[in-house]
Amino acid sequence: MAEMKNTTKTFPLNTGHEIPAIGLGTWQSSPGDVAAAVAAALQAGYRHIDTAFAYGNEREVGEGIRRSGVPRDQIWVTTKLDNAWHKRVGEALDRSLENLGLEHVDLYLVHWPSSTVPGSGGKQHYEDWDFVDTWREMQKLVGTGKVKTIGVSNFGIKNLERLLSDPSCKIVPAVNQIELHPANPSPKLVAYCREKGIHCSGYSPLGSSGSLLNTNPTLAAIAKDKNRSIQQVLLAWGLQKGWSVLPKSVTPQRIEANFDLDGWSLTEEEVAKIDAIQDRFKICGDGWLPVKVFFGDDE
Ligand code: NAP
Repeated sequence: MAEMKNTTKTFPLNTGHEIPAIGLGTWQSSPGDVAAAVAAALQAGYRHIDTAFAYGNEREVGEGIRRSGVPRDQIWVTTKLDNAWHKRVGEALDRSLENLGLEHVDLYLVHWPSSTVPGSGGKQHYEDWDFVDTWREMQKLVGTGKVKTIGVSNFGIKNLERLLSDPSCKIVPAVNQIELHPANPSPKLVAYCREKGIHCSGYSPLGSSGSLLNTNPTLAAIAKDKNRSIQQVLLAWGLQKGWSVLPKSVTPQRIEANFDLDGWSLTEEEVAKIDAIQDRFKICGDGWLPVKVFFGDDE
């Protein structure tokens, strides 16, 4: 078998672009920490950074990119459209580009299928607008030179079906960024996306901060057996399942350890054991939104 090389691995998108398999997450990375984390990750070899307007740290993410010395054209940068900007997609992208100090982003995602009235504190849904309208505007960005690819995030099967079946949908999203870890594996949604040619990126791949997966006995046993950390096992599992992974850390040793994924892999049996984990939890629900966006398992 050829040696497993995850750090330079990419996944093909339906646009012909290739998304690097491992990206640094930056949600809850404070503006004070994130520039150093981004620079450390890029210097360690990461070539993919995930941020969002809503994280309030795009400026510092941009600073980290510049500080790293890694040329822009070698880095995949993803940012996301905030819910309160769905009627102002072009303006929102310009704002993010200005924050980041970049001419373009590689991937621009609709962060949530929830369009909220600005100034409502995210509590009021537009009566005359939703994500199908937002996607119509997103499609206009392609060809402007400001985005390479466009996609969605937090879309279940039900909302994807609605989007893809609408006559205004001419571009199939390149990516659906969704919560993916052994306690939220979403097999039906992942299979649905694959069938439609939509790449899945897995967020909260480590189970997020204070992860309940850190004490999971199945993961602990596999990690011990392989002389790897639980976090490395989780990332290898995601990559072997076929999605890109977005581990977040602001800790230099962890940023490096989370990228130490070459030259080893999980056996099919180990993957099956992780697939069989029965614990279930979701880090990002929809209780804070004015509309429901998740409708039960994978929907
Ligand atoms: P995560 O990456 O699953 O976990 C991050 C947590 O794990 C942090 O507390 C981090 O601590 C800790 N950690 C990282 N590496 C570790 C290691 N090797 N050993 C022990 N602990 C470790 O969680 P996440 O931030 O929720 O998700 C990842 C990224 O996905 C986000 O940052 C964001 O970019 C994206 N995301 C997107 C959405 C969306 O709606 N599209 C939602 C959630 C997340 P330290 O930082 O203190 O090291």
